[in-house]
Amino acid sequence: MANLIFLGPPGAGKGTQAEAIINELKIPQISTGDIIRAAIREGTALGKEFKSYTDAGKLVPDDLVNRMVDERLAQPDCKPGFLLDGFPRTVVQAEALDAMLARRGLKLDHVLLLEVADAVLLERITGRRSDPQTGRVYHVKFDPPPPEIADRLIQRSDDTEEVLRKRLEEYHAKTSPLIPYYDRAKLLRRIDGVGSMDTIRGRIFGVLRGK
Ligand code: AMP
Repeated sequence: MANLIFLGPPGAGKGTQAEAIINELKIPQISTGDIIRAAIREGTALGKEFKSYTDAGKLVPDDLVNRMVDERLAQPDCKPGFLLDGFPRTVVQAEALDAMLARRGLKLDHVLLLEVADAVLLERITGRRSDPQTGRVYHVKFDPPPPEIADRLIQRSDDTEEVLRKRLEEYHAKTSPLIPYYDRAKLLRRIDGVGSMDTIRGRIFGVLRGK
């Protein structure tokens, strides 16, 4: 049983590292960003509303996100645990999550905080490209794609420098108060997010194994 939160600024590597954690622990990853992007792709009225926020680098209103997570946690695959990626992002969301878990008789085990300085994030995010055919994410400098697929790669519309600056502002203003929030609850585990993917994975598993 592992009920986990992945906390950290945009581009800290949460998505990449989440994959290793969910494969190892056999728990689902609940990424509110992915759920929101799926709604945008479907082109529903809600999706259009989401896009106006994500394209401006702003957070989607708490009540909408809280409802999505509550519905997702009700699904049977969350029985053995879950990894929340990109949620909660505000203290209001964290309080809503506490209530959702209490209602289900569940508790959090760890809040993993992946720490990376803003300057590093900027370089990482603006070079990020994904392959629409496989979903694989590359980096033009740190993890270059094979040349034959370079033409089909796309950049997330919110991965530009301008939008990223706004996302970082939102992170520092609204999400970083979660650090003292979970520290007080003795759930916060700080992880240095700078290094190779394997090194960071080792740090995360060290925490999960209680080392
Ligand atoms: P992410 O993929 O986690 O970086 O999320 C992309 C965008 O989706 C964010 O910039 C927000 O606009 C929106 N979003 C994702 N998760 C949340 C959340 N928990 N609360 C509010 N907005 C969110």
